[in-house]
Amino acid sequence: MSSSSFKNILVHFVDEESGEKTTEESNVNDLLMTEENRFSGWECWAGIQNITIDNEGNVWRAICRQGTQLGSIYDGFEIPLDTVICNKKSCNCAADIQLTKYHPDHKDRVRLGKKSNE
Ligand code: SF4
Repeated sequence: MSSSSFKNILVHFVDEESGEKTTEESNVNDLLMTEENRFSGWECWAGIQNITIDNEGNVWRAICRQGTQLGSIYDGFEIPLDTVICNKKSCNCAADIQLTKYHPDHKDRVRLGKKSNE
């Protein structure tokens, strides 16, 4: 099932029986459609790779507001250097789904930044 031919994320899978690892290019909306947007317990780069500013100028790590408020655009805020462990029931915004995140068992599959030949 695919909502779009536009690919904007990489999704890594591990077959539970064979242990085979595969990678697919996908679209964040596809993960919403297939309900593969449950990341509770996963490490997430919310606040490092994006921030959210609400209508009152308060700054948060992401649309989901995981963790504490970072500050405000009026009083100041700092971009965090640490990742967070997701405790949300689901990740519902395309901008949030697009952030790097990984299941604790598969940290070896995370690659941040570009390949050296890009
Ligand atoms: S809801 Fe999404 S963006 Fe927020 S912490 Fe969880 S995985 Fe990260």
